[in-house]
Amino acid sequence: MTRVRVVRGDITTFEVDAIVNAANSSLMGGGGVDGAIHRAGGSSIVAECREIVAEHGECAPGDAVITGAGLLPSRFVIHTVGPVWTGTRPDDDDVTLASCYTTSLDLAAANGVGTIAFPNIGTGVYRFPKARATGVAIGAVSEWVAARPDAIDKVTFVCFDDENLRQYESRLS
Ligand code: ADP
Repeated sequence: MTRVRVVRGDITTFEVDAIVNAANSSLMGGGGVDGAIHRAGGSSIVAECREIVAEHGECAPGDAVITGAGLLPSRFVIHTVGPVWTGTRPDDDDVTLASCYTTSLDLAAANGVGTIAFPNIGTGVYRFPKARATGVAIGAVSEWVAARPDAIDKVTFVCFDDENLRQYESRLS
């Protein structure tokens, strides 16, 4: 059975097999958690991302790619791209956000990852409403691990701000 938990923290400090990055389609780094991961992980991560983009093109929203983790304490970084929330197509955005979580878990399992940490994808610069994003994230992860109970040992939702932490704590308790 996969353990699923929530903690507050800076995801760049987590000693897990893989941390997930809320990237943008260019995979070249940005603000928020993306900037923090590239700053702490060093230049090898962006170098790997550049090779991936050169070979496969940009990363579409809902999709994910995997790189090494450079100087970070994890082994891998899984870069996924959330939907930019506009409020005009909320159901499509839910599907895209859910896909960020499940595609990341697929990649993790394919790479032998036992422990994985997710940030609150889409809820920063991409403005996905936090309560709604929490429901999508927990729903997608719960469904994925229920279907594959032996694939991953532990999933950690890492919340950086109070509102996300409250949302996750109330739903995971
Ligand atoms: P997006 O573009 O997908 O919205 P952001 O990085 O802007 O991505 O925000 C996603 C979430 O990551 C936000 O809830 C933000 O508070 C959180 N965040 C920012 N820095 C960190 C960090 N170092 N560790 C974990 N979460 C972080």
